Formats: sequence, structure tokens, C-alpha cells
Amino acid sequence: MSVMLEAARQIRLVPALQAKGAMIVAGGTLAVAELNYGQGADGTLIILDRLGLDRIAVVGKKATFGAMVTMAEIARDRRLKFLHPVCNSIGGPAVRAMATIGGNLFAPAPYGDMAASLLALDAEITIHDGKSAKKYPIEVFFRQRKKLERCLVVSVSFTLPASGSFRYSKAVRRKPVSASVVTIAALLPRRGGKVVGARIALGAMGSHAIRAYKAEAALEGRSLDSATIAAAAAQIAEDASPADDAYASAWYRRQVVPIHLARLLAA
Ligand SMILES: Cc1cc2nc3c(=O)[nH]c(=O)nc-3n(C[C@H](O)[C@H](O)[C@H](O)COP(=O)(O)OP(=O)(O)OC[C@H]3O[C@@H](n4cnc5c(N)ncnc54)[C@H](O)[C@@H]3O)c2cc1C
Repeated sequence: MSVMLEAARQIRLVPALQAKGAMIVAGGTLAVAELNYGQGADGTLIILDRLGLDRIAVVGKKATFGAMVTMAEIARDRRLKFLHPVCNSIGGPAVRAMATIGGNLFAPAPYGDMAASLLALDAEITIHDGKSAKKYPIEVFFRQRKKLERCLVVSVSFTLPASGSFRYSKAVRRKPVSASVVTIAALLPRRGGKVVGARIALGAMGSHAIRAYKAEAALEGRSLDSATIAAAAAQIAEDASPADDAYASAWYRRQVVPIHLARLLAA
């Protein structure tokens, strides 16, 4: 199959190219493999390098990542130290140098570790459909992800978490990095020692990152003592629908996720 590269010069023109069957290639760590297997495009690839989507902005308490920002760039940014463990858990150095925020939002399970973290952080996704830019809460974005594959993700924004309130763990079969057995990202804001407004996101426990609502409810208004941690751990797989894959069975994922949550909450 012959492949044509189309370097997009304007954001608003990208969705029209997608509608004709062209495929966005950001870092290409997934898209190029798809292409090699003859999937995903009519032969035209859209390159986003010239659209200025590669910037990180931190203004006050708000961070905004252009869709082309890579894991390696975030891992070098001292303002974003809380996300460094997330970035450094994604692939090896060569993958991280290419892998983008935009691509991670579309990565199929068990990938999508950054997407799970952005879900815990209650991020907002800006999409361009060719006519205008629209903002979607990340949960709405995931619900509509299939449909939104024909749109351009422009950027991702979120409020920086209070110091120490963001926690992350990723269980893997092979150290130091591998695809996820289960990924947990948790935002645990506290008031007077009690958890208020917890958000727990799971990766590799569904077709995309999901919230663990029942476990969050078990934490609400409580201090992180051993009884509360046990109650949350007992609920953690309730909202999940993991799959079998080369890294773990669905059964195994359900067995280990309470253990990893308990460790993360007790840390
Ligand atoms: C060896 C290896 C190890 C990996 N390990 C991990 C891991 O540990 N954790 C993990 O989460 N992922 C992992 N991945 C998957 C992948 O590298 C990441 O998910 C990465 O963030 C995908 O980004 P990308 O820029 O390479 O996406 P691409 O491959 O360029 O694109 C992926 C999909 O997203 C679409 N897309 C990309 N950008 C946009 C945009 N701005 N708007 C609309 N659609 C867009 C593309 O059209 C394509 O369908 C791994 C991949 C490899 C090859």
C-alpha cells in the first residue's frame, strides 16, 4: 500500500481530511503499527507537527498540554513532578520520546496510563470538529471516544492537584516497564484529615480508563485508616470490566486490583 503524508497547516482542516479516511499520526507508536497491519487509513496520514500543539502551559493552578506534547517532555518539566511517575511508566525511552497526550487518549486497553491519570485529575479535552472547538469533560470524551475518532484533539487542561493529593501505581508483569496489568490513579483531596471529593481512575480494567465510583464513595468523608482502605479495596473492581490479554486475565486483574489500591492508599 502506498502512503501519502499530509502536513496539516490549519487545525480546522484536519477533521475534513479525517472524514475522507485519512488518519492522524501523532507520535505514531500505535498508528504506524496499525498501518503496517493494513488498518486505520485509506493511505493518507495527517501529520500535526506544524499546528503548534506541542506546548505545555502552566498558568496559576491550571495546566494545559497541547495534544502533541510527549511523555518525555512532561517528564522533563519540573512544574509537573507529580506526573513524572506516570510518564516514566509508559514504554521505554524511545516510546516516551514519541508518545503524545493526544494518542494516549485513544490508546486501547491495556494502554492509556496517562489517560487514566487525566481522568483522576478531572481533565477537560478540547476537540475541533472542523467548524469550532468544543470542550468535553474527560468522562464524556471517553463515552463518545468512538465517534470522536473523526475529530482532532487539540489540548487537555486540568487543575493542578494540591501537593501530595495525587497518587499513581501501575502493576506490570515485567520490570521496569510493560503494558499494564492494572493502573490506578487517585486524586485524594483532604479537608481536616478527611477525604473529600476523591476521584479514582483505573486503567486496563475496561476498554478505556474508568472511574471506580463505589470505591470513591467508600472514602468520602473518612480518614484513610485501615478500615476505610479495606472498604474501598472491597469495592474497587465493582465498576470494572477488564479483559483477558497477553499481560493478564480478567480474573487476575480483579484479584489484584484491591491489593494495589490498598497499598496505594496506605502509602
Ligand atoms: C513498545 C510500546 C510500549 C508501550 N507502552 C505503553 C505503556 O506502558 N502505557 C501506555 O499508556 N501506552 C503504551 N504504549 C502505547 C502508546 O505508545 C501510547 O499510548 C502513546 O501515548 C500513543 O501516542 P502516539 O502519539 O504514539 O499515538 P499515535 O500512534 O500517533 O496515534 C494513536 C491513535 O490516536 C489518534 N490520535 C493521535 N493524536 C490524535 C489527536 N490529537 N486527535 C485525534 N486523534 C489522535 C491516531 O489517529 C491513532 O488512531 C506503548 C506502545 C509501544 C509501541
